[in-house]
Amino acid sequence: MFDCAKCGVYACYKNERGKLPQNCPMRTCPDLFEEAAAIYQQEDMGKLAVCSARVEAGGYGVWPRVREVMEFSKLCGFNKLGLAFCVGLRREALEVAKIFENSDFTVISVMCKTGSRPKEELGIKDEEKVRPGQFEAMCNPIAQALLLNKANTDLNVLLGLCVGHDSLLIKHSNAPVTVLAAKDRATGHNPLAAVYATHYFQKKLK
Ligand code: SF4
Repeated sequence: MFDCAKCGVYACYKNERGKLPQNCPMRTCPDLFEEAAAIYQQEDMGKLAVCSARVEAGGYGVWPRVREVMEFSKLCGFNKLGLAFCVGLRREALEVAKIFENSDFTVISVMCKTGSRPKEELGIKDEEKVRPGQFEAMCNPIAQALLLNKANTDLNVLLGLCVGHDSLLIKHSNAPVTVLAAKDRATGHNPLAAVYATHYFQKKLK
């Protein structure tokens, strides 16, 4: 199957079609790339792709991601931004909302604990909670998505949602989704720290 991670040749990147590995998808699934190309021809998909490429080149290595989100939104004509954030990043959410609003975006923000439904509702046992014996509101990414859908957001920006909760939100969001920051409680929300410093994180990676 596809294993680009172990390619080492990266002939696609260098446009060296004569050097494609045997299991390269460009060799084994040529029709699929035509299928993808046809999808980019759809107006909404093409717009996302073109604006992404323009932002990539426009601020390459200079714009922080929060600026890229805004530049991308402006190019796409997105004015109403959904901000789906984690309770653990509520201070950051306030700052991000201000940054967006200072650039004239309308921000609709929804925190993960919205609804205040007990984790027990999902079948979580008391001993499985972070703090057994106490009320713990479940993270509610589906409600976050439905609320943002109700607000008709143009783009939903994820800020620090947990692994899996982000999957649920992405699955239920009507608007396109981008991630401003990924939750990683062990690294100050810098997941690649554990990849760059495997010697340090070794014992924590299994
Ligand atoms: S698409 Fe082909 S050439 Fe490109 S990284 Fe994957 S295996 Fe390598």
